[in-house]
This record gives sequence, structure tokens and C-alpha cells, in this order.
Amino acid sequence: MAILEKLQLLGNAASWDSCGGVKQKSMKKAGIPASYSGFVYDCANSAEPCRLMKVLQSNSCIHDCKYCINNSSRKGKAGLEPIELAKSFNSLEKAGYVDGLFLSSAVTGEADRTAEKMIKSARILRERFHFKGYMHLKVLPTMSKHLVFEMASLANRLSVNLEATSKEHWQELGSTKNYLRDLQQRLLWLDEAKRKGKLTSFTTQLILGAAEETDLDVLKKMKWLYENTKLHRTYFSAFQPIRGTALEKQQPEKELREYQLYQSDWLLRVYGFKLREVKLGLNEENMFGNAKDVKMAIAANNPNQFPVDVNCASKEDLLRVPGIGPKTAGKILEERQHWNRKFRSFKELRKAGVAVRRAMPFVELEGRRQAKLGSFC
Ligand code: SF4
Repeated sequence: MAILEKLQLLGNAASWDSCGGVKQKSMKKAGIPASYSGFVYDCANSAEPCRLMKVLQSNSCIHDCKYCINNSSRKGKAGLEPIELAKSFNSLEKAGYVDGLFLSSAVTGEADRTAEKMIKSARILRERFHFKGYMHLKVLPTMSKHLVFEMASLANRLSVNLEATSKEHWQELGSTKNYLRDLQQRLLWLDEAKRKGKLTSFTTQLILGAAEETDLDVLKKMKWLYENTKLHRTYFSAFQPIRGTALEKQQPEKELREYQLYQSDWLLRVYGFKLREVKLGLNEENMFGNAKDVKMAIAANNPNQFPVDVNCASKEDLLRVPGIGPKTAGKILEERQHWNRKFRSFKELRKAGVAVRRAMPFVELEGRRQAKLGSFC
């Protein structure tokens, strides 16, 4: 099989992994050949513009994950030798098409042998091609601890896909991996590497809707991870049935759910919300339902906390207001403390960065509260 064909196959197989990369939409505009579209991704969440080559080392797997196209029943098998992968990346990087690598793999035979191939690919890039840019490597289920640490020495970021929120939910999705031993234990090794200063950052991914977990299950798992490890962030992947897999007839998960859980992840991780607060946005089935704005749903179900007086509220209270994020809360406090400023109108709040339409029902200015758009009561 030609290298380009392998890259397309292995790039498409990697597309189910959420790592902050989104498929490169304007290939032509960026001057990238259309045939590279399967494995060239934009970094959606990066402050710096960045484009990734995102591929698997191999797509042939010994495991039986029911949602995965690469599982042991797969027909079209392909793999890249380390030198093929490194040379391909080097050519793309030299042409200016990519500046980072995301490398994952199915487990082809023994996990350690596959991991060694990934490490060799990364090592060739670092040592022979002197690549100094961003590299995200995927830790494989069942791979050995010393190889996890070796990966850490080469990569900017490592990740382990937990996929499910608990061992019970994992049992709905596959029979060959042990959730606590093969997946979560590897995440704890990443935490150890991070605490010892041997790893810059690590992340995980959860699949939504393949098993029967609720949003509350997801929130509880995130809380546990953020409180007990130095996990950088959680990615979500809304389940989509793939033809030829055991779950091909299962309903796809709504993209809205992915969006809701990304919002709640921000509230827990960046805004400092407690789990009991985020839970206020859930319905009786422990789901966010049709709420498009999770923070708004939480605020609407927590009337005792509002209105918040913008001119004397703490940062913590300001952050509870829909339409006020950490940057804007910081700016309001700075203006109040350093310039002794009082905000007297929504126009002034808008200038400070407040999304006024969302914030209006939840704030008061000098004892006045806006009951509805366009009028003070
Ligand atoms: S371990 Fe599971 S999810 Fe990963 S490639 Fe193999 S079958 Fe797919």
C-alpha cells in the first residue's frame, strides 16, 4: 500500500480521538493538497495557530471495543513503520503544512511492541529530524510503566482514553480491557510523571452515549479526576455508530450533549464551581436535557444566589453570573479596586466585557435590577 493511502486510512481511523484537533476545513485556502485532508487537522483549542498531522501508527487491534472501527474484527488493516511515519511528518512539516503531531495507535499484538514503534517514530523525529514542536502521544491500554515514562520524555502531552466513567459502564463497551487496571492505572502513572516533573501535561477522553452513563456520572468522574490528579482537561466524543461495529444500530449521541459537558467542564475546572452547583442544571434524569447554556440553567435553578451586585460582589459571585467569565470578572474587580469605579449602566458593563443580555436578569446596579430587556424596575 502506498504511503499516502496508508496515511489517509490511518488519519481517518484517528478522527474519533478528540484532542483539540478539528478537521482542516479550508485545505485549499491553506495551500494544502486535498488528498491530505484525512490526516491534517487544525488545533481548535490552541492559543497559538497550530496544525496537526493526526494519525494512528496502526489500525489493527486485538481489543474488542464495541464502538471502534479498529477492533479485532476489522478488515482493511494498515500500519506505518516508524521511519515511514517520521519521514512523512518531516516532509509535511518542511512544506509548512503541519507544525505538530498527534500519534495514537490500535494495539497490534502486544501493547509494548506497538508502544515501542510509537516511541521510535517520536525519537526519530526528535533526534534525527530535530523536530522541536508539539507532540501528543497516546498511551495504550496495558502498556508498561517504563514505556509510559519513555513516551513522557519525548512528548509535550500524553493522554489515556478512559472512554467510560466507571468499570461498570466500561463493561457495556468491551470485554478485553480492565477499566481500573488497564486504563485508569495508566492515567495514574501519567499523574505520577507529571508530579515528578517528567511530563508537561496529560488529558483524557470520555465517549458520551455509547454506554448508559448520565451527565451526573460524567460530572462525578471529572470531579474525581480534577481533585485527585493533575489532569489538564477532559475531552468528549459524542458516540456515532460506525458500520461494521457491534454498536452500528445504536442511536448516535446528540452533539449538544458534548457541548453541554464541555461547558460544565469549564465551570468545574476554570470557574471554580462546586459539583453541587453544576448539579443544579440537571433534570430529574440527571441530564442537562435540552439546555443550550448550562451556566444559565444553573443560575435559573438557583434564584437565592441572585441578583449579584456588580459593585460589591466577590470574584466568586461574579463568576456565577451568566455572561461573566474569569477575564471579565477580573476586569470588573480591577476597575473597582484600583480606580474606585462604580458601574452605573449596562452600557458600562458591556464595555467591561459582560455579555449583557445573558447577565441582565442576574445582576443589580446600585440597588436596581433589570426585570426585562430595556427597563429598570
Ligand atoms: S483499544 Fe479499543 S478503542 Fe483502541 S483501537 Fe483497539 S478496539 Fe479501538
